[in-house]
Amino acid sequence: MDHMVMRELLKKYFGYDTFRPLQQEAMEHCLAKRDALVLMPTGGGKSLCFQLPALAFPGLTIVISPLIALMKDQVDGLRANGIEAACLNSMVSAEESRRIVTDAREGKLKLLYLAPERLALPNMMAFLQTLNISLFAIDEAHCISEWGHDFRPDYRNLSQIRALFPMVPVMALTATANGRVKSDIVAQLKLESGRIFQSSFNRSNLTYRVFPKKKVFEQILSEIHDRAGQAIIIYCFSRKGTEHIAEKLRLNGVQAAAYHAGLPPEERTRVQDDFIRDRIPVIAATIAFGMGIDKPDVRLVIHADLPKTIEGYYQETGRAGRDGLPSECMLFFSKGDCFKHDLFIREMTNEDEQRRARKQLSEVARYGELTTCRRAYLMEYFGESWSEKNCNGCDVCLPARPPKKQFTKEGVSPFDQELFDRLRAVRRQLAEEKKVPPYVIFGDKSLQEMARLYPQTSETFGLIFGVGKEKRAQYENDFLGLIRAYANEHQKQDLVERKPVAVRSPLGETVMTSVGLFHQKQSLEAIASQRKLTIGTVITHLESALEQGMTLDAGHITLPNDERFQKIEAAFTKAGGGLLAPVKSALGDAYSYDELRRARFLIRVCKA
Ligand code: ADP
Ligand code: ZN
Repeated sequence: MDHMVMRELLKKYFGYDTFRPLQQEAMEHCLAKRDALVLMPTGGGKSLCFQLPALAFPGLTIVISPLIALMKDQVDGLRANGIEAACLNSMVSAEESRRIVTDAREGKLKLLYLAPERLALPNMMAFLQTLNISLFAIDEAHCISEWGHDFRPDYRNLSQIRALFPMVPVMALTATANGRVKSDIVAQLKLESGRIFQSSFNRSNLTYRVFPKKKVFEQILSEIHDRAGQAIIIYCFSRKGTEHIAEKLRLNGVQAAAYHAGLPPEERTRVQDDFIRDRIPVIAATIAFGMGIDKPDVRLVIHADLPKTIEGYYQETGRAGRDGLPSECMLFFSKGDCFKHDLFIREMTNEDEQRRARKQLSEVARYGELTTCRRAYLMEYFGESWSEKNCNGCDVCLPARPPKKQFTKEGVSPFDQELFDRLRAVRRQLAEEKKVPPYVIFGDKSLQEMARLYPQTSETFGLIFGVGKEKRAQYENDFLGLIRAYANEHQKQDLVERKPVAVRSPLGETVMTSVGLFHQKQSLEAIASQRKLTIGTVITHLESALEQGMTLDAGHITLPNDERFQKIEAAFTKAGGGLLAPVKSALGDAYSYDELRRARFLIRVCKA
């Protein structure tokens, strides 16, 4: 509906050009003030689904998240993009909390992150009711369900929101697509009248491989050597196993650390922090590691031992490649491991538990022994049908690897490794100075694009993936300076295309027919009746032509001169940005979306 405006906000604030699957649909639904449950895999881009509407809405968006350690990073990420955000949790000082509360009262914030236990505090709900809240986003919504893997009793407080804020839309988000959990979320949060947006759980940028478990350490070491400096997680079954591998890696000159629940809390926090901040690239860990980690550029996840369940395996491997860049998942598989698990299972006393564990083990064992596509197995396991013959992303479908040659997935454009490394160094330095994780400054994909296209002007720098308005202003000097000097030294040209940002796709025939009639000076009504389409559809055609950079000759169109139209026009001017939802809520039910859209289109073409 508001495609163009949303795309503008996307580029301006986040530096991205296109939406991921279902993002736009979920956002439009939310902007129309309707409830939603959004199910996407890890890395699917859930956050954007509420962050962009938060910018478009006039009031404050409250985000509930259980991962306190992550909140600050998320807020830092938003602020780096020029978005006013803050968080309230037990790690924020009393003084700072007071300041944040004042900011929220004065309408200075667009997003406020809250830990669920904050919501349980007396007066918190009452305080929220004094604010102008436009949206509640409930992240990690599976935490409300006892059937989920991470039940948080405090999440039950969220059940009140629907009744206490009847006019405010609620968006719940999770990466758990388990049917029981799903219906539990809907019931607990009272989202029955809302919609469920569920994207595919296929992670197309991940490659799945299984190796026989022989000389595991040597194999792991060689994989790490092939990926100098890249972020890698090695999952091990036991605490001792993690320490053993980390120690051996260090003896072999790899910067590595162990992580497991038996370490003192300060040590755990330090290891996690060092990993997120690119100080230690390799972590050998039990599955205790990962929940609180939002690191988008993990390039390899290794399972050195057999995972307990397929769910767990998918979740752990899912931590690779959240940024969408090619990343790999490797499992070292042996019958011996299956046998060991079986011994554990035999000792279980609860029969139900035992039966379940046995089933889970057989599923994991089957995955390890597959001679058919591994992705197909995973997708079907999660109830998605998968019909592709060759997934091009598992060891069964791909041709055998040539050991030493580094594997790169097809379709990845090469980049200048030397420049990339230098850009990474600058990024790390800036990150240390600003005390934020490096990915908050720029993701790998942005740096790779810089190292491929050598932008050398402010304008072309601004066209790079991930470079929004704020980041361009903040970081242009540091990065552009380096690229210019490098390009000069190596005689590289600026290869960024100065075309409009949108990826051009050929306009379909039906769109071009509407455009053709418009250029023949026909009115919207005439085009609609001639083509037996609604006026709304014709406007959609013409808007998509505009979006693709086409100029529409609107000489034959005049703006209506009545009071009604002037009211609409004034409301658009006041709301700024051209989004329909705020205008609609300002004008009320006397004005339909169709009427507003038509007015917006006329204003747009006539004033262009
Ligand atoms: P999730 O919460 O679903 O695990 P995130 O919201 O953390 O995923 O998004 C994963 C990564 O993808 C982030 O680095 C995010 O900035 C990026 N991303 C999200 N949407 C887009 C998009 N439309 N285009 C490019 N990158 C995106
Ligand atoms: Zn496959």
